[in-house]
Amino acid sequence: MDDTSQVIVVGGGFAGMTAAEELGRKGIQVLLIDANNYHQFQPLLYQVAASQIGVSAVARPLRSVFRGIKGVRVLTAEVTAIDAAARAVTTADGSRYQARILVIAAGAVPNFFNTPGAEEHAYPLYSVADATRLSAALTGVLDTADRGQAGNADVVVVGGGPTGVETAGALAENVKYLVPKYFSPELAARCHVHLVDMVPRVLMAFSAKSQEYTRDRLGKLGVQLHMGQGVTDVRADGVTLADGTVIPARIVVWAGGLQAGKIITESGLPQGKGGRIDVLPDLTAPGVDGVYVLGDAANITDAAGAKLPQLGSVAQQSGKWAARNIYADLTGGTRRPFAYWDKGYMAMVGRGAAVAELGRKRIQLQGPLAFVSWLGVHLALLPGFQQKARALSSWAAGYVTHSPSQVVVGRPD
Ligand SMILES: Cc1cc2nc3c(=O)[nH]c(=O)nc-3n(C[C@H](O)[C@H](O)[C@H](O)COP(=O)(O)OP(=O)(O)OC[C@H]3O[C@@H](n4cnc5c(N)ncnc54)[C@H](O)[C@@H]3O)c2cc1C
Repeated sequence: MDDTSQVIVVGGGFAGMTAAEELGRKGIQVLLIDANNYHQFQPLLYQVAASQIGVSAVARPLRSVFRGIKGVRVLTAEVTAIDAAARAVTTADGSRYQARILVIAAGAVPNFFNTPGAEEHAYPLYSVADATRLSAALTGVLDTADRGQAGNADVVVVGGGPTGVETAGALAENVKYLVPKYFSPELAARCHVHLVDMVPRVLMAFSAKSQEYTRDRLGKLGVQLHMGQGVTDVRADGVTLADGTVIPARIVVWAGGLQAGKIITESGLPQGKGGRIDVLPDLTAPGVDGVYVLGDAANITDAAGAKLPQLGSVAQQSGKWAARNIYADLTGGTRRPFAYWDKGYMAMVGRGAAVAELGRKRIQLQGPLAFVSWLGVHLALLPGFQQKARALSSWAAGYVTHSPSQVVVGRPD
């Protein structure tokens, strides 16, 4: 039991870390609980999976983040239950923590949409652990294929949104430069990357021009698109599509959607789409006092009432806004409804190419200019100087040498 903290924050992702930083700087006593002792930067996980950057570029120890902020205590523990009415949580070792305000920022988990075999055989890409596991598996498949074993070395990526597109593009780049056709034609003929989605086009949230550019770029990289076809089952040796097509594959990457995790769905709070909590405009959970739900764990609406997507910028801004409202709660002020500053979105499509739709007006960029914007935005968002320096040096080395800069030491399952 912890009686000293005014606020408990569950989750040190974009939302929880930002909220804790803001509150700590205002002198509020915060207990930040995360199952991991590090913050993970999800937008670059696909590059870890493709061995393009290292774990230390995307993960930053939470104690280093809060080293200079006295009021924030970091606890590495898995929260197993939330008692929203009491603003208390229980951790895996049975300890109970309670505070005046509870912030739930525990992110999300992959949604396999009950697809048979998906949870068992597909590789999700939502955490550093997922990314390193996938990277080891991909390397292992290439190694066995290179020894002439096990037939094809195809990879299927399920999900044509930004995560799926970026992953498919990076893996196709690896195949293009690590298994060049002129050098090992027999192996190259057995390594393909497939991108599958039930919706008719890639990057559905983007403009038609960005979609066309992305389709074209992926085609040039050799990615085989199977759009408008849902995956009906996943097996150890491939997937089946709704029209009966079987795609044999050694690895299936799941970038097909998110849902709230168990601690949120079992919290007793009213759930909306994806099991997430439909929060009120001031980011508090309805029906209880002093509970905030942020980032991917919540369904957050903008000022016009439209649901905001599960994005890093939404999570980060909701963390900052909630901190202001919590400060108001604790000091007798008034909460304000969340106002989202829409910065747009972007996606990398292989080396040197990207699409970006910036700001509320969706200023469209495609190609090298979008690529440079992508680099700048991600560099700015990466938490910590060391993480920025490591990512930048890996990108520069990879760009010049056309080669993944990381050594994969993990063994595939
Ligand atoms: C592969 C990928 C690529 C993405 N690319 C982009 C992009 O380019 N741009 C963009 O804006 N957004 C992107 N996103 C979305 C963005 O990363 C998320 O919206 C954002 O990370 C959500 O922040 P969050 O703080 O809500 O959750 P998270 O960042 O997921 O943090 C949740 C934290 O809670 C902790 N936690 C979870 N359960 C427990 C528990 N039971 N006990 C203790 N701790 C727990 C986790 O360890 C984690 O640290 C991407 C997401 C993924 C997965």
